[in-house]
Amino acid sequence: MLIGQFWGTGAAEGIPAPFCRCSGCEYARKMGGKEVRLRSCFRLTDSIMIDLGADAVVQSIKYGEITGVNHVVVTHTHDDHLNPHMLMESMWAQEKEEYRYRGTLHYYLTDQAFEIVEHWRNNPWILKGKVREFEEKGYIAFHKQEFGQRFEIEGIGFTPLRGNHRGNVGEDAAMYLIELSDGRKLFYGLDSSTYYPETLKALKEHHIDIYISENAVGALKNAEPHPSHMRLCDVRELAEALFNQGTIDGNSLLYLTHINHRSTHKENEEGVKELNFPVKTIVAYDGLKIF
Ligand SMILES: [Zn+2]
Ligand SMILES: [Zn+2]
Ligand SMILES: [Zn+2]
Repeated sequence: MLIGQFWGTGAAEGIPAPFCRCSGCEYARKMGGKEVRLRSCFRLTDSIMIDLGADAVVQSIKYGEITGVNHVVVTHTHDDHLNPHMLMESMWAQEKEEYRYRGTLHYYLTDQAFEIVEHWRNNPWILKGKVREFEEKGYIAFHKQEFGQRFEIEGIGFTPLRGNHRGNVGEDAAMYLIELSDGRKLFYGLDSSTYYPETLKALKEHHIDIYISENAVGALKNAEPHPSHMRLCDVRELAEALFNQGTIDGNSLLYLTHINHRSTHKENEEGVKELNFPVKTIVAYDGLKIF
C-alpha cells in the first residue's frame, strides 16, 4: 500500500539544532509546527522506507510503528540517513518468541556505500559484533545495488542515480528514480550539490510526476554555493534545467526537503514565491503525506 509520507525533512542537525541558538532555531523553538524538522526519512509504502536514520525511533513514536517494514532503501551512509541501531531494534523484534511477527529486514545500499556493511561485519563495537550472526539467522540482509541499474521491491522499480555528495565511506549518495505501482514516477533526490551531467542525462529519459529535491542551504540570504548541498536558488536552476529537458512539466509537483536550520519554513515558502519556480513547488514539512 502506497503511503508517501515525509517522516523527517531536516538536514543532519535537525531543527531546532541541539547546540544552536541561531535565529532559525530560536524561531522554531517558539513556533513549533512546520518549523520543527526531524532528520530526513520517507515512508514510501507500508513495507518500504527510504532511509531509517538518526530520528527513526522518535519518528515511529510520532507516525506509527514499522513492524510491517521489511525493506529500507538507503540513500547514503551519513548518520542522519543510516542508523545501525535500528538493526538492533529489528533484531530484538525477531529474537524473542513473543515479538516474532516478521521476516528478514532487507537493506539496499548502492555501489561503494556497501563498504559500510563490511565495516559493521568486522567491528566488535557495532551491534555487539553480531552483524554476521543476524545475517546468518535471517534477521537482516544487505543487498548491493549499482548506479543506473534498476531493481524491484514488491512491484516498485528503483534506479539509483549519482548524487554529487560524499558519504561516510567516500561514496556518492544515491538519488532514486522510483516507478510506483500505480504508474507514476517519483524522484527522491537527497543529498546532492549541483547535479552531475550524467544524472541530468539519465533523467532526460523520464517524465517525473513527483520530484523531491533536497534544499539543505535553503532560502538563507547571501549563502555561498555549497560543495555538497543546494541553496534554494540552486534548486530553482535545477528545476529550470529539468523543465527545459522535459523531465518535469506543468503536471509535475516539486517538493523541497532536507532543509537546514539557517532558514525557516516561512522564509523558504516566501523564497519559492519570489523565485517563480517553473512547476508547482511545495516546501515539505514533517508528517506531510503526498500520495
Ligand atoms: Zn543528509
Ligand atoms: Zn540554528
Ligand atoms: Zn549526507
